Amino acid sequence: MFNRDYNENPFIVIWELTRACELKCLHCRAEAQYKRDPRELTYEQGKKLIDDIYEMDNPMLVFTGGDPLMRPDVFDIAKYAVDKGVRVSMTPSATPNVTKEAMEKARDVGLSRWAFSLDGHNAAIHDHFRGTNGSFDLTMNAINYLHELNMPIQINTVISRYNYDYLEEMAALIEKLDCVLWSVFFLVPTGRGQEKDMITPVEHEKTFIWLYELSKRVSFDIKTTAAQHYRRVVIQKKMREQKVGSDGREIRYKDALMNGTTGMIDGLGRAPKGVNDGNGFVFISHIGDVYPSGLLPVKAGNVKETPLAAIYRESEVFKNLRNPDAYKGKCGVCEFRHVCGGSRSRAYAMTGDYMESEPYCVYTPKAMREKKLSS
Ligand code: SF4
Repeated sequence: MFNRDYNENPFIVIWELTRACELKCLHCRAEAQYKRDPRELTYEQGKKLIDDIYEMDNPMLVFTGGDPLMRPDVFDIAKYAVDKGVRVSMTPSATPNVTKEAMEKARDVGLSRWAFSLDGHNAAIHDHFRGTNGSFDLTMNAINYLHELNMPIQINTVISRYNYDYLEEMAALIEKLDCVLWSVFFLVPTGRGQEKDMITPVEHEKTFIWLYELSKRVSFDIKTTAAQHYRRVVIQKKMREQKVGSDGREIRYKDALMNGTTGMIDGLGRAPKGVNDGNGFVFISHIGDVYPSGLLPVKAGNVKETPLAAIYRESEVFKNLRNPDAYKGKCGVCEFRHVCGGSRSRAYAMTGDYMESEPYCVYTPKAMREKKLSS
């Protein structure tokens, strides 16, 4: 697992079981619909997909949507995967589909984790963001019940203009709810997500620094999404704190910069190398289309026609994305490009080119500083 070659096998696979959902969240990547698409992968096609995923050195599998609970066979699919030995987690929407019965089934089937979205520390902020009144209360009730079932809980939060001023309150709530992981997502302007709702590049940097300090004092792990540059901030902080060169840890962090293996960063602690879109990460849509991420809408193939492994390993877009040396602009010359590389999804959403530089990073790479000095 820890020596996984991302050129061959992903670390994590996200499968959008369905695009159907009863919510209408402001930032929805999937622009979810109320009804299921008749072209969705069938149960049989889903089993074949799980077989193919398992063959790729058994990466983690996440069921997303839409709302996975809109598929009546969701727990049959989950059971097939779990029985095979795949670690499955699920991110259902907080709708009346989240019944006690559904949660008990999830536990009985052996899902390793249940993730809920929580985008505000109170109903006013969260329900506005999720576009549905009552979503906050429903989520709180479901979390209480998951605790009774002893199921580990992950909270996903989208950082945006709407909640940027309340991050301390959010963190306090995550702690109070006794969650194992806070997955913090930084908005990418795609789907219903809009640029005007994003925080600024400087606010990104401030949030990363805040998250790093937070990670030292809370009981839950922190993971970031679409914020690869958080890794850069963590490495910079660690290097400063640990006085590189004086205690033998120099080699570890310098190595991290050179080869992209850090083994410690950002509560991705589970991900030994810097996962990025198409590089350790793959997304399969409800109809079987394969993308480097759910936020990077450049299709690389379809699992109904081509095995997932062939698409992941051989498609041009995936191969390009796994070559940080070919990135454009400052990401391409940045000394952190192999551990960070910026969000390829955000680069694509904002420039139309997935190889362009991350537009929301404030860092000036060393090579550019040196060039400036010498000119
Ligand atoms: S310039 Fe690019 S590679 Fe360097 S830290 Fe920023 S986002 Fe990461």
